[in-house]
Amino acid sequence: MCPLECIIKALLQTGATQTRVNVKKKQSKNYKGLEIMTICLGIEGTAHSFGAGVVSSEGEVLSNIWDMLQPKEGGIHPREASQHHANLGPEIIKDALESAGVGMQDIDMVAFSQGPGLGPCLRTTATMARTLSLKLGVPLIGVNHCVAHIEIGCLESNFQDPVTVYVSGGNSQVIAFAGGRYRTFGETLDIAIGNMLDVFGRHAGMQFPAGPRVEKEAKLGSNYHPLPYSVKGMDVSYSGMLTASRKLFTEGIPIPDICFSIQETAFGMLAEIAERAVAHTKKKELLLTGGVARNNRLTEILEGVAERHDAAFHRVTPPLAGDQGAMIAWTGILQHNSGDILEVATSKVRPKWRTDEQDIGWKT
Ligand code: AMP
Ligand code: MG
Repeated sequence: MCPLECIIKALLQTGATQTRVNVKKKQSKNYKGLEIMTICLGIEGTAHSFGAGVVSSEGEVLSNIWDMLQPKEGGIHPREASQHHANLGPEIIKDALESAGVGMQDIDMVAFSQGPGLGPCLRTTATMARTLSLKLGVPLIGVNHCVAHIEIGCLESNFQDPVTVYVSGGNSQVIAFAGGRYRTFGETLDIAIGNMLDVFGRHAGMQFPAGPRVEKEAKLGSNYHPLPYSVKGMDVSYSGMLTASRKLFTEGIPIPDICFSIQETAFGMLAEIAERAVAHTKKKELLLTGGVARNNRLTEILEGVAERHDAAFHRVTPPLAGDQGAMIAWTGILQHNSGDILEVATSKVRPKWRTDEQDIGWKT
């Protein structure tokens, strides 16, 4: 049987036709008046992680289950990652429904990460979402992964209009809302900050993902070794820093000191462009989201930025910081309520979908 058929078969065995424990759908008011609470299943699978989350239209995260591919050696291979998603996806979706206490019949809409990301991973994820949407007869919503990282942060913090620092394995962006879209004020010109940490870590013999270990080592270091501080206007570049830090490792500089130097330089660069964005836009909220948001030193530095500009600060909590399905589900609800729904025939994945190419209908 081809992988596609396997996925469909497995999904249809997850209890699509029966309700397990019915969530009592309560009456709740939203901006349109009295409405029944709706429930969205969100599926995320843009890169190394596959996740499924169930979220209500009241913003309650009912479940959020994910699994990250851990390659034995080397980096992430797109085909291996998509195989991981195909193998584990149906089970993870089933677990997410069970843990939320809902059955397939309780799902009012299915949202999936339509992009940006690795083509094979996106296609596998989209196949699962389309299958469920067709089988259950519910709307299909294609969510921009980067927008979802912002929206889950806004949900958690109740921020209305933040400057967002979105830092992860595949992205490093400073974003703010203007003219109906999330505009990228600054971003990396080459590799993402998380990727830089992971590749350095691999070189230094650390397990993937290396970010947490780099943070631990950095706490033990104190000797700063200059690394390329590369800020170009509102953009940053991390590839020079990666080369230079690998060189320090080869020269025998202690790992804690290299990690300390990487963190201070890389986070300082981000803080500079984030501070400029806050000063320029005069926004009064600063949000830190994405997997690298788990880093306490980065949080501390950005807290300082917010304080200097009299802005509120929020760092997305660890379970919602990295790639997971709850952020896709919540953004799916926002999109659905603004009428942004896909036809299966036009639900092609968008590997290069930029943050600022998505209309944010729910904010205008
Ligand atoms: P994501 O792509 O959003 O799932 O985030 C994964 C990235 O976050 C990987 O590159 C990790 O190395 C990075 N990461 C996770 N925890 C930390 C941490 N404590 N400090 C720095 N980076 C981290
Ligand atoms: Mg991400």
